[in-house]
Amino acid sequence: MAFALCRNCGEIVPKYLKPNRKNENVFCDSACKYAFVNDENLHRERFWNLVTVNGEDDCWEWKGGKDRGGYGNFMVYRDGKRFYDRSSRFAWYFTYGEIPKGIFVLHKCDNPPCCNPSHLFLGTALDNMQDKVRKGRLVASVGEKNGTAKLCERKVRYIKYLLFYTDLPKTEIGARFGVSPATISKIDCGKLWNHVRVGHQALEALGR
Ligand SMILES: [Zn+2]
Ligand SMILES: [Zn+2]
Repeated sequence: MAFALCRNCGEIVPKYLKPNRKNENVFCDSACKYAFVNDENLHRERFWNLVTVNGEDDCWEWKGGKDRGGYGNFMVYRDGKRFYDRSSRFAWYFTYGEIPKGIFVLHKCDNPPCCNPSHLFLGTALDNMQDKVRKGRLVASVGEKNGTAKLCERKVRYIKYLLFYTDLPKTEIGARFGVSPATISKIDCGKLWNHVRVGHQALEALGR
């Protein structure tokens, strides 16, 4: 008589009279399944199997699925539920532990799929924004190809972020968006695009 083995505890599972094709995902009961899917060590092992571990100072490329920005995707079970996040964040988590809430995992090497823990550092939203600006990514992510001096809400929102979160000169911000520094100044003081609010401004507008 054919049988299958519980993937968690290895016990024979008698209710499977036919051989399970892959002999995968067979469990005695929900408790065994729950214990298995939540197993941190298993997730850690699965994770590092998807990383090309190179020399200490090299980039460690992610071999699994990636998003459009080139960042890796990985999934674990937490409390029996699927939890997805970037592979660089898991690399941090599996090496150094919990990432504080609201904190970003950034790359020193500017290589999104890299999972070498020594190439990663923690930062705030502000650090993330400044890091993107330094690496010239922010404007590219605006994603509008025409080089004309037309602004849209989305671009203005980015301009406002740059004005607030960075110390880039207005000439440089203007150049990035194909508009004059005078236009940037008008946006800065609210003469133009005053209805577009970002972060702190949105809070101030609500009277906080
Ligand atoms: Zn079992
Ligand atoms: Zn790297």
